[in-house]
Amino acid sequence: MARLLLIEDDPAIRTTLIRALRERGHAVAAVGTAMAGLQSVLDDRPDLVLLDLGLPDRDGVELLRMVRAVSPVPIIIATARDADRDVVLGLDAGADDYLVKPFTAAQLDARIRAVLRRGGDGPPQPAVLVVGDLRVDPAARLASLADEPLDLTPREFDLLHYLARRPGQVVTKRELLTEVWQVPYGGADKTVDVHLSWLRRKLGETAREPRYLQTVRGVGVRLGAPR
Ligand code: CA
Repeated sequence: MARLLLIEDDPAIRTTLIRALRERGHAVAAVGTAMAGLQSVLDDRPDLVLLDLGLPDRDGVELLRMVRAVSPVPIIIATARDADRDVVLGLDAGADDYLVKPFTAAQLDARIRAVLRRGGDGPPQPAVLVVGDLRVDPAARLASLADEPLDLTPREFDLLHYLARRPGQVVTKRELLTEVWQVPYGGADKTVDVHLSWLRRKLGETAREPRYLQTVRGVGVRLGAPR
């Protein structure tokens, strides 16, 4: 029996899918917002996530990236949008499969079983992190920007990887020093600043005109997709 998490804001669709999936032998938990979904992924560790792209609080693709940053859980997108772009974005952000609404419970169940079978082949691979055009592949220790490989030192890669796991979050220099360098914070330590400026240069941006690496004065730094 698979434990499924359904993230779907439409109560009628939610009720129908819960019933259909339970009838097919799955355990189903359901939430109606992106943030409740992220919380449930962290707390309940489902076997598979079924994700609606049109959610009230966050875009589904954005949620997908957030989930991918913290979990390798298989994800199937269930979307009413059949625009190719959404599907490509979703698959690019780490979805395992997708279905365009309306679909039958039998179709959905077949996809779920196929994805779960694939996922059972070996240990889960660390997910490739995607922030805008930036991709960070922890397994291969490769990063690229707009499909151009970035030539990073091991420390720069670790720094970028740490930030990419927390897209949009402000991270303090103290945290970077203790978590990435694993040394105690010395107050006047310029190590983090220096490495951030090197990383910034390799991302092709400047402190004055940041794109991905945004300094939050007096607090720290944040990695996010340019607006
Ligand atoms: Ca919806």
